[in-house]
Amino acid sequence: MENKIKAYNNILELVGNTPLVKLKRITEGFAGNFFAKVESFNPGHSSKDRIAVHIIEEAERKGLLTEGSTIIETTSGNTGFSIAMVSIIKGYKCILAVSSKSSKDKIDMLRTMGATVYVCPAHVSADDPRSYYEVAKRLHKETSGSIYINQYFNELNMEAHYQSTGPEIWEQTGGQITHFVACSGTGGTISGTAKYLKEQNPKVKVIGVDAFGSVLKKYHETREFDSNEIYPYRIEGLGKNLIPGATDFDVIDKFVKVTDSESAHTAREIAKTEGIFAGYTSGAVMQALKQLNEEGEFGPKDNVVVIFPDHGSRYMSKVYSDQWMEDQGFFDTNTVSETQKVQYIKE
Ligand code: PMP
Repeated sequence: MENKIKAYNNILELVGNTPLVKLKRITEGFAGNFFAKVESFNPGHSSKDRIAVHIIEEAERKGLLTEGSTIIETTSGNTGFSIAMVSIIKGYKCILAVSSKSSKDKIDMLRTMGATVYVCPAHVSADDPRSYYEVAKRLHKETSGSIYINQYFNELNMEAHYQSTGPEIWEQTGGQITHFVACSGTGGTISGTAKYLKEQNPKVKVIGVDAFGSVLKKYHETREFDSNEIYPYRIEGLGKNLIPGATDFDVIDKFVKVTDSESAHTAREIAKTEGIFAGYTSGAVMQALKQLNEEGEFGPKDNVVVIFPDHGSRYMSKVYSDQWMEDQGFFDTNTVSETQKVQYIKE
């Protein structure tokens, strides 16, 4: 009988081909047209699905993985979730070494996706045998047939975006993109996508978003690593205290820095104006657009594409908690408007 069932063979077939959505209200009064590539449409709800699939399938092509092999990485964030998801479908074991700063929710989420989680002390130096880097390295050495993803220093991270995110944006904009703006963490998204876009049109301007407290912007401008730039900040997934090997700084035209507070408020504004429930770094990239618009970066005919890397549901106890916002000093709960207050009906 002819097969009329229109189903995907597994969840991984849904990775990539995320929608490009025109921004309207939040960019009202800005010069130019603005579009967000909404990466929460990936099945693991973030752009990291792309690198997890690409890096693991490359390892398979090279014969590094066989049934039951182990995949190791050091993150409690989006990458950990994506690797765990790919591991389930492909029949690999997944070990994630995470910092003791990781929330219980995140650890439970990874365990739900079948990962074995090692929680390592946050306040030890990177070369301490108890650090999550060293624990991952040791487990990799001790586990025969394992691979270590190492997203900050793995060139395949960039290649994943060169092969998918870049071509998708070029196609979705009909080649009319003038600016590409994205947050830089490992730098895989911005450099891989930028490399593809600039190969199609070298005039496409690429702008990276960095955090105050991170070394990336200064390194881009001076090629010097300045440890004086480093101090704690709240945005997760953006900026770094080291120079990631997965970033190609030559394809990035400039960096802008954003604050924790403004990015948090802007993330909330995205939900209220565009109806898109996105993560903290989506607020950061949108905040960068506001600053760039103020500086006169864009002209009325420009087509600007930004990446919204993940979904807002991962930040319920952070940016989307009024209490958390108040604890950070970002927000005064007394300013919540009447219509926004929870209305309790008496029993
Ligand atoms: N936003 C979030 C939420 C992330 O987890 C990451 C990845 N660290 C980024 C942005 C930055 O992406 P990339 O690592 O590709 O630079």
